[in-house]
Amino acid sequence: MKNRFDNQHKSSGTAIVTGAAKGIGFSIAQQLVEDGFFAIIADMDQTAGQKAAASIHPERACYLPCDVSSEDSVKQLFAAVAEKYSPVKVLVNNAGIIRDRVIWKMETADFDRVIQVNLRGTWLMCREAARIMKEAGYGRIVNIASRAWLGNPGQTNYSASKAGVVGLTRALALELAHFGVTVNAVAPGLIDTPLTQKLPEEVRQKLLNAQPTKSMGEPEDIARLVAFLASEKNHFITGQVLHVDGGKSIGATGF
Ligand code: NAD
Repeated sequence: MKNRFDNQHKSSGTAIVTGAAKGIGFSIAQQLVEDGFFAIIADMDQTAGQKAAASIHPERACYLPCDVSSEDSVKQLFAAVAEKYSPVKVLVNNAGIIRDRVIWKMETADFDRVIQVNLRGTWLMCREAARIMKEAGYGRIVNIASRAWLGNPGQTNYSASKAGVVGLTRALALELAHFGVTVNAVAPGLIDTPLTQKLPEEVRQKLLNAQPTKSMGEPEDIARLVAFLASEKNHFITGQVLHVDGGKSIGATGF
């Protein structure tokens, strides 16, 4: 049976996608492979990561273990990629977690962990990639932020981490622009993934009701934009935050 990757014979280069074992990251890795990249699925979840790589494409995707919040783990990932694959052309920082609670009930550990994974992890990955891409004179970095960077109750830790990702994206875009490297952030709204499937039904309904579209997005909605920003078609969009959220970032609907 012919599969949808059969027309692609030449690899466009290596793309690392963090947190790609499931959800939005999985769709991004799948889209990048479809666009001709070799995708490295860098995730903490080995079982899901290996399964994801095999289901995307056994020869055009592979799983490598990585905890993005650990400097050693990030360095080991880049060393393994340098040893076995062509230089990284695309980095998508997608790994992210939530630990929601109103601030007066939130443990310090829940603040620290969210910042460590979402912000420190993105920064550690960007630093390694920047060193490689600067030398190569080419690169595409896409950081997955969230509409919540604008502020969400119950998410003081998460909103701060994603606002940090936006600041990091803008500063790094300036540092790397003259090396042929673009750095952008994509800010998803409510997307149907294992992360949001864990929310209690009444919370999901409330969130859906607050959506101008009254609908959730699909991981593919994010993947298509990320793939464009990660491609050679884009060279002039850099340092931007693009919301993919069914209009939620515009403001309250009143309907
Ligand atoms: P998910 O929970 O479905 O998947 C996240 C993946 O990241 C998992 O495979 C997990 O194993 C991996 N991961 C977690 N911690 C990690 C670490 N320290 N190192 C490496 N991998 C790690 O999440 P999702 O809904 O697909 O979200 C993906 C990204 O999109 C996150 O950054 C999230 O904040 C962002 N986002 C999601 C939504 C949404 O509605 N789903 C909305 C806005 C932003």
